Amino acid sequence: MGDETAAGKLLPVNEGLVTGTDNEPRDVQLLGSKCDRCGEVSLGANAVCLNCGSDRITGIRLAPEGELWTYTVIRHRPPGGYLGPDPFEPFAIGLVELPDGIRVMAPLAGDVDSFEIGCRLRLEPWILQSRDGPAYRAFRFAAVAG
Ligand SMILES: [Zn+2]
Repeated sequence: MGDETAAGKLLPVNEGLVTGTDNEPRDVQLLGSKCDRCGEVSLGANAVCLNCGSDRITGIRLAPEGELWTYTVIRHRPPGGYLGPDPFEPFAIGLVELPDGIRVMAPLAGDVDSFEIGCRLRLEPWILQSRDGPAYRAFRFAAVAG
């Protein structure tokens, strides 16, 4: 990583996973890959199809909205070097079904008791600041108002 961790830099939480820049951290979209042979859609920039092994892949931007397929609520502080709020606050993690034909696992923003299977969710940027190191450009989903 080296120089990439300079102050003010926002590193992608995973290379090839999200769009956005240091200047426009709110302009976040999920990147995906679509197989030209079998049509399989996968999360992130992949060189090979995870379904059929073809290397005929087209990079795509995944839809920013989807439906909550299932979710769970984390009500106890995870072990290890958890960097979330102190004191701990429960949070939700969901599988969000996108119209691209893929389900994406992601944190859910908002009251953990407010989610329902099938509710509409929208991608939003989420900046993660490590204690002594860099900040990361990540993502989560939040309920669509209305
Ligand atoms: Zn394929």
